[in-house]
Amino acid sequence: MVGDNMYKRHETKPIMVGNVQVGGQEKMVIQTMIKARPKDSETAIREINALATEGAEIIRTAVLDESDARAIKTLKKNTTVPIVADIHFNYKLALLSIEHGADKIRINPGNIGSDEKLRAVVEKAIAYNIPIRIGINAGSLESSIENRYGRTAEAMVRSAMHNVRRVEAFGHRDIVLSLKASDVRLTIEAYTLAAKRFDYPLHIGITEAGPKDRGQIISAAGLGPLIHRGIGDTIRISLSGERIHELKACKTLLGAFDLYDAPKLISCPTCGRLAYDMDTLVSQVEAYLENNPTNLKVAIMGCAVNGPGEARDADVGIAGGKHEGLLFVKGKVVKKVPQDEMYDALVKTIESFEK
Ligand code: SF4
Repeated sequence: MVGDNMYKRHETKPIMVGNVQVGGQEKMVIQTMIKARPKDSETAIREINALATEGAEIIRTAVLDESDARAIKTLKKNTTVPIVADIHFNYKLALLSIEHGADKIRINPGNIGSDEKLRAVVEKAIAYNIPIRIGINAGSLESSIENRYGRTAEAMVRSAMHNVRRVEAFGHRDIVLSLKASDVRLTIEAYTLAAKRFDYPLHIGITEAGPKDRGQIISAAGLGPLIHRGIGDTIRISLSGERIHELKACKTLLGAFDLYDAPKLISCPTCGRLAYDMDTLVSQVEAYLENNPTNLKVAIMGCAVNGPGEARDADVGIAGGKHEGLLFVKGKVVKKVPQDEMYDALVKTIESFEK
C-alpha cells in the first residue's frame, strides 16, 4: 500500500505494456534494461528474472540483429515481466521483434528512416496491439528543428510533436514519450513542457547519469522536481555498474514522494554527542528493512538529547546514550536497551506493529 500523502499525477492516457498499465493512474512504473543480448538467452532470462524480483515492472532489451529479435520469444516463455525491444536504425528488427512477442518497442523515429519504413513498424504494432515509445534524445534532434530552436526544451518537444504526428498519421495512439538529455535543467524543462502539450504517458529519466553515486544524485535532482509536479508515468534511473542499484534508486526516489512503499530509515548524521556504535546498527537495520519491507518509518538517532524530537514522525526508533539507547515508539520512550540488544529490540518492535 502506498501512503495517503500522494502527489496529484499529471493526467495521461493509460497504455498497456503487456499486463502492466502505464499512465492514467497515480502509480509510476519502474523499469530498467538488461545488459545481456537476447540471443544469449540463458543469461538474459536469468538477468530479467533477477531484476523482476528486485522490483523491475518492465524490462527493456537492446535488439541489435535478427537473432536478438527472434530470441524475444524464448525470453517471453521464461519470464513474466513485459519486455520492450529497443531498436535503432533498422526498422526490420522492429517488425521481427513485434512478431516474436515484444510487449512494446522503443524507437527513435528520426533514425528509423522513411515514412514507409515507419508506417510498416506502426502498422505492425497496431496489428499486434502493442504500444510504441517514441524516444527523443537531445543529442539526436532533426537538424531542421535544432537549427531553428537550438538544443533546447522547445526543440525536444517540437521533435516529439513532429514524430507523434507521424505515428498518429498511420493510425496509432498507444504512444509513450521520452525526452532524454544528460543535462538536468534541460530534462526538467523538456518534460515540463511536454506535460503541457501531450496527454501521452511520459517515460522519465536522465540519460547517461553516470556511475552509482553521481548518477543517483543527478537523477534525483532532475527527476525529483518532475515527480513533485506529478509528471512521469514510468521511470528509469540509468546508472553505470550493477543494475540492481537502478532499481534501489527508483524505489527510494519514488518512496520519498510516497509513490512506492520503500523502507523509510531515518538516521542522523551524528555529532560529538554520539556515544555508541550507531553505524553498525544503521547497516544492520537497513539490511533488515530491505529484506522485510514495511510501511513503518524507522529512526536511528545518535543521542537522546535531540533524537526522539528530531525523529518525531518515526513510528519506532532508537536514540543512543552511552553504550545504550532509548527505544521510542511514536515519539514516546518505552525502555532503555543496552547496545548489544538494540537491533533485536528494534526488530521485535517493528514486527509487533506488523501483527
Ligand atoms: S541526534 Fe544527537 S548525535 Fe545525532 S546529530 Fe542530532 S544531536 Fe548529534
